[in-house]
Amino acid sequence: MKNVISLSVFLLFGLSGCAQSASNPVENKIASSADGPINKIVKTENEWKKLLTPEQYYVLRQQGTEAAFTGEYYDHKGKGVYICAACGNELFSSDTKFRSGTGWPSFYQPVSEINVGIESDKSFGMVRTEVHCARCDGHLGHIFEDGPQPTGLRYCINSVSLKFKELKD
Ligand code: FE
Repeated sequence: MKNVISLSVFLLFGLSGCAQSASNPVENKIASSADGPINKIVKTENEWKKLLTPEQYYVLRQQGTEAAFTGEYYDHKGKGVYICAACGNELFSSDTKFRSGTGWPSFYQPVSEINVGIESDKSFGMVRTEVHCARCDGHLGHIFEDGPQPTGLRYCINSVSLKFKELKD
């Protein structure tokens, strides 16, 4: 009986704690995985500068955004997986890519919640949910709630943060 009571108390406070800590509505729907079981890659900014092109460095390391309709992948069709341009972590499957009309590659879910991390972004007077590679922390884009089912989410990703790995049948 004692155990049952402790469990109930834990569930009550544990769950209410979760509900209170999530202030951003998009984040309520996504299991955060920033501290998931993934081998982190940590480099100095100088090391990243040497590894990445100036465009990749601007987006991935300085939270930049490429201009709409200019990236390599917004209208890209092909069967495969989109990986992180900085570290090769698998991020999005072509099966979850959809035409959003925004000019940025858009997906309704990542390959795995473990492979991406999310954070509140309050820049430019907006509250948005930033999404980054969970392995190298490279900035990918933002998540919005106007995506298609089954998730209703739109992962709006910079092409420059991605590389495409084609799957051949
Ligand atoms: Fe990465």
